Amino acid sequence: MTIKNQAELDTMREAGRIAAWIHAEIEPAIVPGVTTGELERIVVDRLRVAGASSSFYGYLGLPGHIRASEKDEVVHGIPGRRILQLGDIITLDISAYYRGFHGDSAWTYPVGIVADDAARLLRDTEAALSVAIAGAGANTRLGSLSHTIETFAEQRGYGMVPAYGGHGVGREMHEEPHVANRGEPGRGQMLRSGPKIAIEPMFMLGGEETRQLDDGWTVVTVDGSWAAHFERTVVVTADGGGNLDGKAGTNVTMNAYARAGQHALLVRAPSRLM
Ligand code: MG
Ligand code: MG
Repeated sequence: MTIKNQAELDTMREAGRIAAWIHAEIEPAIVPGVTTGELERIVVDRLRVAGASSSFYGYLGLPGHIRASEKDEVVHGIPGRRILQLGDIITLDISAYYRGFHGDSAWTYPVGIVADDAARLLRDTEAALSVAIAGAGANTRLGSLSHTIETFAEQRGYGMVPAYGGHGVGREMHEEPHVANRGEPGRGQMLRSGPKIAIEPMFMLGGEETRQLDDGWTVVTVDGSWAAHFERTVVVTADGGGNLDGKAGTNVTMNAYARAGQHALLVRAPSRLM
């Protein structure tokens, strides 16, 4: 979608900040012994406190208020009675619906200490997201954005799921355009000032083949390798929208590289393109 005015921009930003706050709230609860259903209940409570609701609940028949994808689950895991173990990784995809706008964000967390390859997977997937956001100014072509993510994964030997990627966000959780994790530089739609998009690299330690479980939702890797998924919603602006947080002049404002809790970023056009 394209942001039409300052009021919409502010509300959109607030939806993102709520999702960000909930990630910050939930992180200390991600410990060995907790169930994904218990994590979900914390999210539901915080959404209520913030005057928001889950974008996911009931969406296309989705069960649950969050997506909780463990280990070899790539996306769309269903929260429930499963108990997190020391050394697991868990992706929580949280989307807040607030006054007509969605804020969509996912983060993969370690459960206590994790193996070196899992730690590397998390670090690199998060870094790929940061790099992609930094390059997502107005006048960037989507293909270039996608290519950044693709190259990042290839150079480090990660698999990627061709079928899944980011998307436009607005009054609907999923809107055009599709923001693929693979693409050709200089090709595809040109990002103009205003669009709000979710960027979401998903990297896997093994191959790129996935399958869906019998629950009709959960997508897992065929080879059982673990997967990470980091997602943030950003607004592409060329006119100084970043002024909202007083940091005009930087490409990415609002803690672009912070650990979690930064999902309504305001991205300025890189100065060389203006
Ligand atoms: Mg998304
Ligand atoms: Mg999401």
